Amino acid sequence: GATIGILGGGQLGRMLSVAASRLGFVCHIYEPGANPPAGQVADRVTTAGYDDVEALTAFAASVDVITYEFENIPTEALDILERQCPIRPGREALRISQDRLTEKNFLQGLGLNTAPFADISDQASLDAALAEIGAPAILKTRRFGYDGKGQARIKTLNDAPQALADMSGAPALLEGFITFSHEISVIAARGLQGDVACYDPGENVHTDGILDTTTVPAKLSGSQRMDAVLLAGRILNELDYVGVLGVELFVTPAGLVVNEIAPRVHNSGHWTQNGCSVDQFEQHIRAVVGWPLGDGQRHSDVVMENLIGDDMDRLPELAKEADCALHLYGKAVTKPGRKMGHVNRIIRKKG
Ligand code: ATP
Ligand code: MG
Ligand code: MG
Repeated sequence: GATIGILGGGQLGRMLSVAASRLGFVCHIYEPGANPPAGQVADRVTTAGYDDVEALTAFAASVDVITYEFENIPTEALDILERQCPIRPGREALRISQDRLTEKNFLQGLGLNTAPFADISDQASLDAALAEIGAPAILKTRRFGYDGKGQARIKTLNDAPQALADMSGAPALLEGFITFSHEISVIAARGLQGDVACYDPGENVHTDGILDTTTVPAKLSGSQRMDAVLLAGRILNELDYVGVLGVELFVTPAGLVVNEIAPRVHNSGHWTQNGCSVDQFEQHIRAVVGWPLGDGQRHSDVVMENLIGDDMDRLPELAKEADCALHLYGKAVTKPGRKMGHVNRIIRKKG
């Protein structure tokens, strides 16, 4: 079979590798860090940095298509890879999702609702933006943030100087605080021929900025569910996207507000492993190799719970639970806040 190159060897790369090998593909991981979780399951691993021209060139020569598990791949590395091999999802999705400002402008350009936002470079621009947007608000680094890192809450205007100091001089984005009833996400996919498939939205609960649980189905009216799926489809089509995309949304009385998009498989889509015949990882592999997509149908309701840090101490009890599927990432070191695995609690449909 064909060889699939995956940039990034974390748990997402690992679960993509498992799905790819189940379909008979060979997987080659590219990861700067030693002993990555994906390295335990992939056919081949290159340990090298994104500035290593020789390693990047050899990697691209060894694979038929390149995909990735994270969006912060340096542009120079992408240029080298793309000369030899298609990258899916494409460069436009990466360009837009690498920078929160570019992403917000893109979403607004599509006519979608976002939090009010402003580009922040210094105290003067922050003061001006707060005068416009008001408090409460959130200051976020434009690039490289994940799991709520690189964010500072501004509850009152007094918090502004400290929030700016927390950015350590990095370009930042001020977002007005959205009062939402709950958060949901749509995991959607688009194939090489432009076909689109969507999973039912999941309801997400975050604790300390990190995803804690995803519950499917989410509490949504029929029209909210339709809105969520249609807006994900618009984003996919606009980007001429190939692969799985995660769209995070706030549910408000005034409608759905897009928080952010991720051009990859998404933590809030892990429930599909035990809720659907074709999960998000297989779906992504199918898309990037040009196969037909699974239809996204759900055979069971699921509650996904992330196992973070010393949640792993609960493993003996979790392993005894009925209808509780364990997914562990093989990570050796437990750090507070580190994602070690997840469980999918399956709620079987009757009849
Ligand atoms: P991820 O790991 O999902 O990439 P991230 O670091 O990019 O996370 P965000 O998704 O921007 O962070 O924010 C994390 C959480 O903080 C959101 O899921 C939401 O609960 C809250 N949040 C972020 N922005 C806003 C906002 N403008 N208004 C209200 N709550 C917000
Ligand atoms: Mg994010
Ligand atoms: Mg997020």
